[in-house]
Amino acid sequence: MTLATDTRQSWSQFLEYVKKHCSATAYGNWLSPIKLTEATEDTVTLEVPNIFVKEYLLSNYKKDLCAFFPVDKMGEPSIKFVIAPPVPQKASAPKQPTPDSITPQPTHVPRDYVVDLNPNYIFDNFIEGPSNQFVKSAAWGIAQHPGQSYSPLFIFGGVGLGKTHVLHSVGHHVRKHHPKLKVQCITTEQFINDLVDSLRNKSVDKMKRYYRNEIDVLLIDDIQFLENRLNFEEEISNTIEALINQKKQIIITSDKPPSQLKLSERLTARMEWGLVAHMGVPELETRVAILQYKAQMKGLDIPQNIAFYIAEHIYNNVRQLEGAINKLSAHSRLLNLEITENMVERALREMFQAPHQERISVEQILKSVASVFDVRINDLKGTTRTKEIALPRQVAMYLACKLINESLQMLGASFGKTHSTLLHARKSIEQKIQKDDHLRRRVDMVERNIAASAA
Ligand code: ADP
Ligand code: MG
Repeated sequence: MTLATDTRQSWSQFLEYVKKHCSATAYGNWLSPIKLTEATEDTVTLEVPNIFVKEYLLSNYKKDLCAFFPVDKMGEPSIKFVIAPPVPQKASAPKQPTPDSITPQPTHVPRDYVVDLNPNYIFDNFIEGPSNQFVKSAAWGIAQHPGQSYSPLFIFGGVGLGKTHVLHSVGHHVRKHHPKLKVQCITTEQFINDLVDSLRNKSVDKMKRYYRNEIDVLLIDDIQFLENRLNFEEEISNTIEALINQKKQIIITSDKPPSQLKLSERLTARMEWGLVAHMGVPELETRVAILQYKAQMKGLDIPQNIAFYIAEHIYNNVRQLEGAINKLSAHSRLLNLEITENMVERALREMFQAPHQERISVEQILKSVASVFDVRINDLKGTTRTKEIALPRQVAMYLACKLINESLQMLGASFGKTHSTLLHARKSIEQKIQKDDHLRRRVDMVERNIAASAA
């Protein structure tokens, strides 16, 4: 392997450059898996895990690639892409019958097994951003050519981030554009229930045959429900294996990556066999785009600054954003109110989240309170009882109780106060901000400052 140092350096410089220009999630999903395998003066070879990564790189960074690397006669970056070989299997797969050796079964679709796809979960309704782009492109690629790229595609990520949405989108797309292919979408719970039923009815062979021989695209939602269900794991493993061996398409969703699921090594290996893709929490801009899209769908007009305001306060998942829109829509219709920051704040107050609890420290709170209330940090820590100091000090204690997940004793200690002083401060501020709008706004401002510095 020859490596011209210059070109190799260009690659690390390019990575440094991209790192500064994209989100950490995007970088982790798209850039880190790329390996520079060869570099000469006039060309580089990049090993990518799959075709989507190549496409992503070329469609987003072509100009930059030209700036960092040699270009060919056409003015294109002179890069050779090779696809990385699949990860070696951990466990050896027992031999499965090839499709040819399987006696064809009459095609009856047992109605019970079919999960309806949610009609709203289609690609067109899915808003893309750096956090979900990787999953979306992988799913889209599969929807175009089922069974020809990655099987299984394993999608993991937290609740309400759009895993089921993407899963069903593939189902819709395949049904529409590949009508000959049989698509089956199932939740893991339901698979288990069906299996229990068919064991009871002694029709388990029929179910097995159906799953293994008559399905072209199997969509399995929420595989984490298989944890600790030893008896069923083997059946699902066999099904997955049989389908993979027949080059059928499987997509699996889960709340954790395969390695963190408490499942057998064999099944874990199967799930890691294809492509494992992470669905991240959407960034602020994406949350705003989702909000505006959902609002528009409901015929609700939300000004840009309000959308930002909401998206800054609701950041864990998309389902909550939808909840916010529904609430706002009801609120504005019922009360016939214009959507202003004030109105939003009132309507959504209890949905707004305390920003990034785990990363906030008492010091941060003191700093932020000091700057908003224009007092000195040392005064807040001191014992002066003048009103100018006592109020912001109570605000700091109130916020510490609200934003830091610690016992009152521990928090009290960091203020040099007893826990009952803290409790008193919390109550007092809670009551005051109910009545005093000016104070509430200042407290909100402190909170937003803290969120911004913790983010
Ligand atoms: P998960 O399966 O990851 O728990 P869902 O797929 O059920 O999440 O998504 C929760 C809700 O959020 C659904 O109504 C879905 O349509 C919506 N949603 C999630 N991500 C997006 C997105 N990127 N664009 C539009 N809607 C989204
Ligand atoms: Mg889901």
